[in-house]
Amino acid sequence: MSESHRWRVKPGSKVDLSDIDTRDPAGAPGDKDATVAASAALMDRLRVLQERLYAEDRRSVLVVLQAMDAGGKDGTVKHVFTGVNPAGVSVSSFKAPSHKELAHDFLWRVHLRVPERGQIGVFNRSHYEDVLVVRVDGLAPESVWRPRYEAIADFERNLAREGTTIVKFFLHISKEEQAERLQARLDDPEKHWKFNPADLEARDQWDDYQDAYAEAIERTSTDDAPWFVVPADRKWYRNWVVSTVLVETLERLDPRFPDPPEGLDGFTIE
Ligand code: ATP
Ligand code: MG
Repeated sequence: MSESHRWRVKPGSKVDLSDIDTRDPAGAPGDKDATVAASAALMDRLRVLQERLYAEDRRSVLVVLQAMDAGGKDGTVKHVFTGVNPAGVSVSSFKAPSHKELAHDFLWRVHLRVPERGQIGVFNRSHYEDVLVVRVDGLAPESVWRPRYEAIADFERNLAREGTTIVKFFLHISKEEQAERLQARLDDPEKHWKFNPADLEARDQWDDYQDAYAEAIERTSTDDAPWFVVPADRKWYRNWVVSTVLVETLERLDPRFPDPPEGLDGFTIE
């Protein structure tokens, strides 16, 4: 049995985020040190698998990261992809849309960044913002954002059929953990740049965001594009979970080096 099922949201199941402990260490190979060591081994494995995916050049993997502010999206990218050949990975961060982006449908800017064959694409925020911040801040009426659940499921189904394997992570932190991390951004001069006063407004809307996340996850966790809810208060556990799911996903894909061209056997360069 895979480890991933532990955090995977079964299609059609109800999601109650308040029921999922943000410090649950379930499945961890041991204490912090043991888990960090296990993550290092997984990162090595990921490097090998990614090289094969790149060489095979037929399929791609899309990793979606969503979280409340200071939820650890950047830290996850930094840790999990350490050591992976940068030529095979693209990271896209989605901020508030520009005028040009707003002049298109909400999936336009996202589709442009979907990884090409052979690549792993990481989305730091994503098309899910269009049913999260847009809903909570009332940036569009419900008649606009509600149909997007279906549009997203259709979009992801199409990508899956065309050869993109999708895994989506919600890094689940507690409100207390967020307070500590935001405070650290205020207290540490080297973290000031990460502080955005708008984060405090989103924090005031915590419960609305949790509801919006729960509904988005519930409505869009599919076999083609499952959601994983990661207890993320402890960074070392979060990194291990994400690495575990990615390695299991790639092992299942089992990318292979392509067959060599004919006639290479015994060929000597003179
Ligand atoms: P951190 O987690 O470290 O705070 P971040 O991902 O919040 O990093 P920021 O530059 O602080 O990065 O914020 C990006 C902002 O863009 C978020 O507030 C997010 O809600 C907003 N955003 C992203 N997509 C959309 C969208 N489609 N419509 C409106 N706002 C969006
Ligand atoms: Mg922010």
